[in-house]
Amino acid sequence: MSNLTFGIIKPDAVRAGNHGKIIAKVLANGFKIRGMKLIHQSLKDAEGFYAVHAERPFFGELTEFMSSGPCVVLALEKENAVPAWRELMGATNPAEAAEGTLRKEFATSIGENAVHGSDSDENAAIEIAYFFSKLELV
Ligand code: ADP
Ligand code: MG
Repeated sequence: MSNLTFGIIKPDAVRAGNHGKIIAKVLANGFKIRGMKLIHQSLKDAEGFYAVHAERPFFGELTEFMSSGPCVVLALEKENAVPAWRELMGATNPAEAAEGTLRKEFATSIGENAVHGSDSDENAAIEIAYFFSKLELV
């Protein structure tokens, strides 16, 4: 199990001004921030990032949303980082997210759900490399 994962504070959460509160919770939950920047993806960037979901019915909606405004990308370190970050995020659908999770507090719908997290160590490495250069990882 790797100690790194990749996260995004999605455009809905940044638009609502919740990125500071989310970063505070990231730190309070024992994650070390190894990379962090504010970016605004083009539609092509978002399509590349979510290529695994290309066949899903919500792909167009998802990539338009992810390119609709700035988001914060994060490289996060913690023991068992992938499951630890997914636990703090909560369920994809905020209606099913547990109390105390980021999606319970900040997400508004299954599509606009405030945060992204990698689903495996392999994808975490791919996703970190998609957004960060070597110099941007400390
Ligand atoms: P997660 O982000 O929890 O790993 P998925 O990988 O299944 O969830 O989906 C990726 C993203 O696609 C979700 O975070 C959400 O923004 C969007 N999404 C998932 N399911 C739906 C849906 N049924 N309708 C609209 N958007 C969805
Ligand atoms: Mg996923």
